[in-house]
Amino acid sequence: MPNMLVELYEEKQKKGEFEVDVEAQPSTVVVEPTQDELFLKWDSTLDDSKHLRGCIVCGGELYQEQAFPQITGIVIVLAFAGAVAGILGLVTTWVMLIAMSVVLVMDIFILFVAKTRLTCYGCNTRFHNTTVAQYHKPWDPDKAAQLKRQSEEPKP
Ligand SMILES: [Zn+2]
Repeated sequence: MPNMLVELYEEKQKKGEFEVDVEAQPSTVVVEPTQDELFLKWDSTLDDSKHLRGCIVCGGELYQEQAFPQITGIVIVLAFAGAVAGILGLVTTWVMLIAMSVVLVMDIFILFVAKTRLTCYGCNTRFHNTTVAQYHKPWDPDKAAQLKRQSEEPKP
């Protein structure tokens, strides 16, 4: 099994990443490129089948996201350019058809390479190369608001 790739975020800014072997469960890792040592929480963050159940950085809850590769934007631009060229009559029907099929093939390709990643509600850490379990749900605004309220309440 490949190592899980973990990306640390501060607001929207990526501040570091590390790879971790979920089987080995090391208690500390070194974050690139800052070389900071980070303590990981393995207690109750893995389920019996070694699926990630919670955030190993802060212990928070996770949601799943589709991580689309950069190419998606290119395809949208190509499709738009093709449509405009077709409307303006700049290209022949044949060229148009070929271009549209290329875009379609790329679209299907993207569906296959798009990967699901897990993101933490609490600290925005993203987890790649990990198995997504059935109980992971997409981002839920209600849950995010609820967890935010909880984190802002003074701890007893
Ligand atoms: Zn977290």
